[in-house]
Amino acid sequence: MAALVIRTCIGCRKRACAAQLVRVATVTRGGAMFAVPDVARRLPGRGAWLHSDLSCLALAERRRVFGRALGCIGPIDIGPIQEHYATQHVVTQHG
Ligand SMILES: [Zn+2]
Repeated sequence: MAALVIRTCIGCRKRACAAQLVRVATVTRGGAMFAVPDVARRLPGRGAWLHSDLSCLALAERRRVFGRALGCIGPIDIGPIQEHYATQHVVTQHG
């Protein structure tokens, strides 16, 4: 068993077990940066963590924390993340 990993959600900034969070990674396509859900948790790079909760996504969007959290300079397209949250069955993990 892996050790319990605690990460901070970039939306609500609460700490949670990594198993309850969605890892967000970056990919570059055609010179543009995209934030993508790293479901398999295998993409390289810094990564950021977010509850699988639409309210946390909304908070992170409003605060524009994706670029900073992911360590990228310049604009980042979070469309793939929005799509992921819109299409998956979102379970609220907040206790
Ligand atoms: Zn959160």
